[in-house]
Amino acid sequence: MSRRKQIYEGKAKILYEGPEPGTLVQYFKDDATAFNAQKKAILDGKGVLNNRISEYVMLRLEEIGIPTHFIKRLNMREQLIKKVEIIPLEVICRNVAAGTMAKRLGLEEGTKLPRSVVEFCLKRDDLGDPLVAEEHIHTFGWASHAEVDEMIAMTLRINDYLRGMFGGIGINLIDFKIEFGRLDITMENGTVAHQVILADEISPDSCRLWDRETDRKMDKDRFRRDLGGVTEAYTEVATRLGILKETQNKGAPNLSVVSNDD
Ligand code: 5GP
Repeated sequence: MSRRKQIYEGKAKILYEGPEPGTLVQYFKDDATAFNAQKKAILDGKGVLNNRISEYVMLRLEEIGIPTHFIKRLNMREQLIKKVEIIPLEVICRNVAAGTMAKRLGLEEGTKLPRSVVEFCLKRDDLGDPLVAEEHIHTFGWASHAEVDEMIAMTLRINDYLRGMFGGIGINLIDFKIEFGRLDITMENGTVAHQVILADEISPDSCRLWDRETDRKMDKDRFRRDLGGVTEAYTEVATRLGILKETQNKGAPNLSVVSNDD
């Protein structure tokens, strides 16, 4: 790892130069942060779980025609991804009021929304990732009209699919955050066009996942709200998805994997 060039270090991931031009290696750390990194911890095994869960989700989304940056998982903590220019927006999709929406609009957490809502936040840690309107996106040139339309359409499609996928394992998808990037595509006539593709990760770090029977939180809110059992909850999500073997000892995360290619 030390021989590779580090391109970027975020709160939960590191990006290294990839083996081929146009590729990067995405490394999942065990670091957990919340409230703009004011709260920090190391959660043993979180990176391994998020690497596996995000791989699983990206592969399922590719199957339904969502273009993603994912190429392949390399090992327990790393995946090979396509290098993209990240669009500086966090796209949030909500089915049930929770988190900042519940707070901002004075809604009781858990209120089902009449329809799924897509929001955009500017990716600016120093400003606390503020909610922005499409007008701001166009005015400041963060994305074009066509890119915004594509991001909204893809987000709603991803939401429909993931609601069904998690619903099938007894989990309600409350909300999630995704990011998109621009991939350079060289056309036959030599001109370069941009394709908008799904980037970053989809994991319990970036989704709210509640058990359907009990409403028990199975996501990063366990860390944000000091509920404990964070990696145990992530392990349960991975186990229900069929990524991890059933745990023999229910209390402890079992990070053994179904395939043994690690
Ligand atoms: P909220 O705006 O309610 O805090 O978050 C809405 C959804 O987006 C939640 O599922 C939350 O986990 C996710 N989310 C919002 N901001 C971030 C972020 O900066 N990083 C990650 N990993 N997820 C985020």
